[in-house]
Amino acid sequence: MRALALLLAVGLAGVGAPLRYEMALSLSPDGLLQGEATVSGTAPADWTELVFRLYPAALDPSYLRLTGARTGDQELPWTSPDPTTVAVSHPVPAGGTFSVTLEFSGQVPSFAQGKGYGTFARSASAVVLAQAYPILAPWNGSWTVRPALPWGDSTVAEVADYSVGLVVPPGWTVVATGREEELAPRAYRVVGENLREFAWVVLRGYAVQTASACEVEVRSYFPPDRASGGAAALEVTRDALRAYTEVLGPHPFPELDLVAVPLRGAAGVEYPGLILAGEGYYGRYSQDPLFFPMIFAHELAHQWWYAEVGADQVGEPWVDEALTTYTSGLYFERAGRLPEVLQYWEAGYAAGRSRNPEARITSPLSAFPGGAGYGGIVYSGGALFLHAVRGRMGDEAFFRALRRFRAEFRWRIAPGKALLALLREESPAALEDLFETWLGP
Ligand SMILES: [Zn+2]
Repeated sequence: MRALALLLAVGLAGVGAPLRYEMALSLSPDGLLQGEATVSGTAPADWTELVFRLYPAALDPSYLRLTGARTGDQELPWTSPDPTTVAVSHPVPAGGTFSVTLEFSGQVPSFAQGKGYGTFARSASAVVLAQAYPILAPWNGSWTVRPALPWGDSTVAEVADYSVGLVVPPGWTVVATGREEELAPRAYRVVGENLREFAWVVLRGYAVQTASACEVEVRSYFPPDRASGGAAALEVTRDALRAYTEVLGPHPFPELDLVAVPLRGAAGVEYPGLILAGEGYYGRYSQDPLFFPMIFAHELAHQWWYAEVGADQVGEPWVDEALTTYTSGLYFERAGRLPEVLQYWEAGYAAGRSRNPEARITSPLSAFPGGAGYGGIVYSGGALFLHAVRGRMGDEAFFRALRRFRAEFRWRIAPGKALLALLREESPAALEDLFETWLGP
């Protein structure tokens, strides 16, 4: 059905083939990653080059580097202005299709010796491989290439269809964005449509619990000694799924994996259909009655705001983080705990502003050096802003605006001004004073 619709679209309107990644990736027991990716699609304008990002190289150039580029049998030259960016020379006329094959390799560091959050790292029982391939930069009249900063999230990407073959060391299994299928011992295939990025985790000796809610299959993976935390993660996610589905509409993917892994400097990280959470929290979840559920409520909400409705996470991080944080409040609200969360956001916003008085809710990631005040201002402050807007608009109009925002920007990258315009349009009362108070002139 999809293919037929697409052919019609190509024939009638000149709309091209969607962006697609066909990849073959292998991981050796000592953490050597080798891969080949064929990236194909349609150029929306006259291109002289294709710009790809290698995000793990921001931490260390040895983590991921390009080793070859070609189209068919023809080798393509490339330049690399910084380790995270390669521009592959390949003229494509507007409306023309392209198919470029990239070879790459990298050394996955041990979690203990690695840098960053641990989203490109290996430990005795988990190897996390996020953004572990060249990702085509979004085109918006020019290539969107934002700096890869050591705080916040760096990835700015268009959704694409993925088909990925994976080979892992003996005794390890794969959990990934999309749908995983074990073809043979050590060999997997992962397929997914409309994935904003592809991420995979390779596990050894993990336990799994599953639940189904709102037609979504949820799987919680955890080390066997974290079983009660793994079950609690599953329960929070199931309840949050119900809360969000009721207000925003169905979860964008048929399945969702939760995986406990070592992380540092982040409690959770979101990928399409995949949530990573710091395993340390699983051991003390009962002592963390607010923060533990907040991790899963937050990362689940990113499936709507980030995975489905994309954001420029570097230029306008508030768009997905404020919406996500506010949506996570719906989980607590459903359990009669909204006052607790509002208090948490208020304390966080005040602390953030005192740490970084110059920055605002709508500031770019670069305005928060070292992450100073980032969570407090953008996440908590952004959620308080949306709460004030909801109070002015009323529930019906406010949630209608969010659903419209979702429908209009599904699988695209949404600008913040479009969210504000929709809120304005749906609001029965003027919002300008709230916009000015919270977001500035
Ligand atoms: Zn977030």
